[in-house]
Amino acid sequence: MTIPYNYVTVSVHLDRIIRNYNRFAQNGPVIPVIKADAYGHGLFQVAAVLDAAGAEIFAVGSVEEAVSLRDVYPQKRILSLLGPILASDYDLVCQHDILCFIHHFEQIAKLGEAARAKERKRPVDVALKWNTGMNRLGFRPSEAPAVINAVREAGLQPVMVSSHLACADDPNAAETVKEQAAAFTVALHALRHAGFPVVGNLANSAAALAYPEFAFDHRRVGIALYGGNPFWRTSHETLGQDLECAMEVATRIASVHPLRAGESINYGYTFTAKTDMTVAIVAAGYADAYPRSVSGKAWMVWNGKRVPVLGRVCMQLSAVDVTGLDGVSPGQKIMLLGGGGKAAISADELASWWGTISYEVMCLLGLNPRVYAE
Ligand SMILES: *Cc1c(COP(=O)(O)O)cnc(C)c1O
Repeated sequence: MTIPYNYVTVSVHLDRIIRNYNRFAQNGPVIPVIKADAYGHGLFQVAAVLDAAGAEIFAVGSVEEAVSLRDVYPQKRILSLLGPILASDYDLVCQHDILCFIHHFEQIAKLGEAARAKERKRPVDVALKWNTGMNRLGFRPSEAPAVINAVREAGLQPVMVSSHLACADDPNAAETVKEQAAAFTVALHALRHAGFPVVGNLANSAAALAYPEFAFDHRRVGIALYGGNPFWRTSHETLGQDLECAMEVATRIASVHPLRAGESINYGYTFTAKTDMTVAIVAAGYADAYPRSVSGKAWMVWNGKRVPVLGRVCMQLSAVDVTGLDGVSPGQKIMLLGGGGKAAISADELASWWGTISYEVMCLLGLNPRVYAE
């Protein structure tokens, strides 16, 4: 799973994840979202510190990811956001008491069958996922009566009602958030009216920051735990400005040499020196999930100073301008993400050069070998 044979090291600051978590937890219950290997920060390491901080429910992606946590946390509520997909998933859910998002009728029938075959003493708990506008996964609120009949017939026990917001991170989309919340309330009330003791959750990180009125019983917080600000460079930026970026990524300098006026560098000769310069060749490229799309756009941090990437990012090498900096030499560390102090590069900033969002930056750079700093 980890990218082998390179010089890139990801440092994960678990203390920052805990401070980010506590920032939300002090305002009410949080379901930390630790899917996709905790957004590249390491499932087990992140789960351990969140458990110690008092998290009662963990949200992961696949059923198998949930089962892997079950071995470590025999009593914990573990929620699979993807829900059962493979035939084998249904047996795993029953065997390991995984709480799953159930979002279509076939899943209700299949999970009911799997539960009967296991001759369980207790009904299987489920989290019902509602489509309130995103149109990705979920039952429509108008289907609530049919869903209620189906879960009764299958002998399943709804304990949670959830939906997901499509535009909570867009300050101009407050109206769509309100519409989704209203549709969600319809589904939540239908289940409660039918006598099921369900808790409700709708908010992601952005909504947890911007819409406290739609917190319901829990907020499912992902990106903000890791220090991504969903409102970075928007009018709501200050809502997430004190979140701390938990991931830093370093690599090593491979070579330092002159680039003379008129000379070009790297594939395609996309950068040509106007004056005599000094360049450092850095051991990071797209094979290390440092993407080619940041060619000529990104900065790195060497010894607390920002240095710009010159020309194309290659497979395992990139070039930066270190003209006028004293003491730059091969073998030294250089930061691709983080870097401390004023020069530090946030995941949101790297994402902007990359043409993506902080989520993808963390998930992909997190594939490199990791170390844990407290
Ligand atoms: C990933 C995910 C979240 C967390 O979203 P963030 O924007 O990272 O806070 C919440 N709910 C569901 C269903 C998700 O898939």
